[in-house]
Amino acid sequence: MNSDLKHNMLFKQQAFIAGEWCDADNRQVTDITNPATGEVLGQVPFCGEQETHRAIAAAEIAYKAWHQTTAKEKSQRLRRWFDLIVENTDLLAEILTAEQGKPLAEAKGEIGYAASFIEWYAEQAKRIQGEIIPSHKPDARILVSHAPVGVVGAITPWNFPAAMITRKCGPAFAAGCSVVLKPAPDTPFTAFALAALAEQAGLPKGLFSVITGDAKAIGGELTASKVVRKLSFTGSTAIGKLLMAQSADSVKKLSLELGGNAPFIVFDDADLDQAVAGFMIAKFRNAGQTCVCANRLYVHADVYDVFMQKLTDAVSQLKVGNGFDDGVTIGPMINRAAVEKVESHIADALAKGATLLCGSADKSADHFVQPAVLRDVTDEMCVASEETFGPLAAAFTFTQDDEVIARANNTDSGLAAYVYTQSLSRAFKVSEALEYGMVGVNEGLISTEVAPFGGVKESGLGREGSAQGINEFLETKYTLMGGI
Ligand code: ADP
Repeated sequence: MNSDLKHNMLFKQQAFIAGEWCDADNRQVTDITNPATGEVLGQVPFCGEQETHRAIAAAEIAYKAWHQTTAKEKSQRLRRWFDLIVENTDLLAEILTAEQGKPLAEAKGEIGYAASFIEWYAEQAKRIQGEIIPSHKPDARILVSHAPVGVVGAITPWNFPAAMITRKCGPAFAAGCSVVLKPAPDTPFTAFALAALAEQAGLPKGLFSVITGDAKAIGGELTASKVVRKLSFTGSTAIGKLLMAQSADSVKKLSLELGGNAPFIVFDDADLDQAVAGFMIAKFRNAGQTCVCANRLYVHADVYDVFMQKLTDAVSQLKVGNGFDDGVTIGPMINRAAVEKVESHIADALAKGATLLCGSADKSADHFVQPAVLRDVTDEMCVASEETFGPLAAAFTFTQDDEVIARANNTDSGLAAYVYTQSLSRAFKVSEALEYGMVGVNEGLISTEVAPFGGVKESGLGREGSAQGINEFLETKYTLMGGI
């Protein structure tokens, strides 16, 4: 509806490099479209190696000065940035919905979530403490301190255009680092808007650059640079592996938040209404386009039919449409490839014997997908091994605890898993046996700035959020004070 962003004070169409708003050196631009309507929202510069190189050089200078400021000063600047993000929630959410598609209420929720990382790390900036270890020699003292890693390269995805940026920048700046960010090509305007607020908040020139353009060239420069000491990436497993390989030459510190294939297990002793409510959030938030979205729903055979009925009733209440329209709960998919992936998973499952309880097997012409529920899904179907990343609930059945744990763990991914049971014993045993970085027990929404977010196996390295998140941007320095 209202996607005319020209009046929006935070709508910028230039990159933010070394503290200056600028075009690409070659003046090339790329159109950015609204996934709900296909309309062009604006253009962004198509930058490459040169601009990235400039941003890195500025980040090195900025980092050295920023590192020397007091913890209190870092904290106050971050707090100011947090305040500005919160004050500008409506403007930010409007940009976010226009370029990403999620319903406006969800976009506002994301801005609150994004801001929470800046608030949390504004506080943590003051709590980077070292230790003194009892020495192995009487005339020596052992000091342990923490220093920022230095210049950080950050590459973020389109599904959370604001929160994936602040989740990296909050701890990085609090630790004393500087950041060169390449946002997702589909959602650059939210990134520019956050940079505009960072500038207003008084973050020093060069501390935070945002570059749009040639992903390969920008990523190549960020990974090849010896000045960039750390890469923090959220995105697909395939690109994560590529960036990991590219970072090997300069032995960079890495944080990788990659794909998931989350199991959602409903035992026969679960509160089924609670389980359906939890599943609706875990599956359909952001139209199913989150890496912690439930992908494989395992329901105990004894409660399968009842659960599927309740689930189908809940799913048929969802309203698909333009994220700016009232009451819409499912926005558009980000692009045609995302639509086609959902459609191909449905077609594959139907061809192999699953039944569609709601949604449609018809091919859509635009970016909208009706939320779908499939029953009698088996391990041979594509949806068992691949992340759908869309509004498709694929329900398997099981009878034994050991069996469902083994099936849930039978994947290279290990990000999030969900368990619904009323048994305390089962809750502990199953959550401990699941090879996942995060487990929600009787809860479908696990993301919060106060907890460590991250995966095991091919879902990634490192943790974001919580007191742990800042460690990813710090090096430990041990000093032996001898001859005392
Ligand atoms: P998705 O399939 O969800 O878009 P990607 O992993 O392709 O996930 O994208 C996540 C981020 O990685 C985006 O910012 C994208 O531009 C970036 N990216 C993609 N390819 C490369 C690359 N070769 N080098 C650096 N960044 C890349």
